[in-house]
Amino acid sequence: MTTDYTRTLSMGATAADSSQDAMLTRLQSTRVHLTAQTDIPGVPAALKVLIGNLRRLPIQLSIAPGQAADRLPGRLLDEVLHLAAGIDETRPLRIGSPTGGLHIHLGTQPPTTAAASAVPDGHGVRLRAAGSSFPNLRGAGTGLGAVAAAATLTGEVFKVITGLHADRFRPLSSFDFCPVTLTRNPGDHTQPVTSLLELALIGTGAIGTAIAVILDALAVEGNLTIVDPEHYDDPNLTTYSLGTRADARDKIRKVDLLERELNRNGRWNILPIHGTAQDLINKIDARSAAWPRIVLGAVDSIAARHELQRIQADLTLDGSTGGHAGTTLALHEALPLGPCLRCYYPAQPLDVVSAEEQLHKATGLSLSRIAQGDSLLNSLDLAGLSAHGRQLLARHLGQPICGLSKIIVSIDEGTYRPSAAFVAQQAAVLVIGALIARTTGCTAGPRHTEYDALFGPYDDMTTFRLPQKDCDCQTHSEIIMQVRSLRSQAAPVRAGDHKWQRRKQR
Ligand SMILES: [Zn+2]
Repeated sequence: MTTDYTRTLSMGATAADSSQDAMLTRLQSTRVHLTAQTDIPGVPAALKVLIGNLRRLPIQLSIAPGQAADRLPGRLLDEVLHLAAGIDETRPLRIGSPTGGLHIHLGTQPPTTAAASAVPDGHGVRLRAAGSSFPNLRGAGTGLGAVAAAATLTGEVFKVITGLHADRFRPLSSFDFCPVTLTRNPGDHTQPVTSLLELALIGTGAIGTAIAVILDALAVEGNLTIVDPEHYDDPNLTTYSLGTRADARDKIRKVDLLERELNRNGRWNILPIHGTAQDLINKIDARSAAWPRIVLGAVDSIAARHELQRIQADLTLDGSTGGHAGTTLALHEALPLGPCLRCYYPAQPLDVVSAEEQLHKATGLSLSRIAQGDSLLNSLDLAGLSAHGRQLLARHLGQPICGLSKIIVSIDEGTYRPSAAFVAQQAAVLVIGALIARTTGCTAGPRHTEYDALFGPYDDMTTFRLPQKDCDCQTHSEIIMQVRSLRSQAAPVRAGDHKWQRRKQR
């Protein structure tokens, strides 16, 4: 078995209007070299995320060991070598000087050969292309700033090495961003989350694993319920922020992966639930799980979003990725009495348009061809389609066309649009930025923020949302308040209770 790069290649090929084979050839001959100033707060954490992100691409990767004050600490070097080998042992991280290719830097004083550099500043990120200098940093880089810096810098690498058309991205020459205030002023906000949080993370895919990485790097603590029904598999290795080849081989439960990673530092009191949000709701109402006051949503379908809204937490922060090439990302802040996630994501009227028409719209396959239900999808069918259509249908070659309509719901909701780890990380950065904002005094109305990772955040990307008049949160507000009242009357869960419950279950 070799590491499965299909999803990353598919995303790169779609963004660059190229084929997966051409993208593989291109990336395999691409060299990327890293340097880092690990004495700057947040840079060691950023380096680990950056190396993980770049190792999830089939490129040749090297890192400078550094000299004198900039020498990489031996333990950190061991960690990143181990991390890279866990993702693809056939492509080890090389330690040494650059041999051409693209050079990127973490820190404020890049060598002259570096094309781009980034550094955490408080909870935010500053990035500069060669020739632009950094201002003085305003705050010590936090775990959130570290992941923001790594994800942003990975985005700059992705734009260059995939050979995107000039109109498909915006190179960042001088970029500053704070995911807490959603402004261009990083470093102003460094306030940590200090209170003991009662959190639930629903969904441990690309965004959920990135959220876990940030929670771990932030050094906050609290009770965390983690919910996901799936097992870790080969394609997850190159799109998630956590997990190894061994985890994919063993097909471990995703909730167990997150529990293992977060338990290394022992700050979270974790209750893993191998199931869906409804299973958590059942446990809350049976008083065998705490009612989370804040829910972090990282699920990939509208139905799953509606389900987690029914937890009726004080605050739901939903992260998502999507778009034609899987490079757009969004944050929705939802409240039980509106705007709720149903306001943001109304149910799709699937019965209005026929399944055949939806398949045609999603893939470009002609309606006359779709009408030949018994015949099998062949390579000629794919030849006439856009790169996006080919990407959606390639995996169904040889299958009867009548069966394809069944996949439209998944297509419609984005399941088949792979996102790279750095895009999901930027969505996770917005989610945790909002968590910090909302637990440290931000009183702005519920925000909907959305941007394309290939263009970066922009000034008008945030809108303040009002509830939809005909939504359940408006028409059934009394029932919602009763449910919330009942759940809040359950005995408060103290630190350690989750672990006690787990022992009892065994
Ligand atoms: Zn609503």
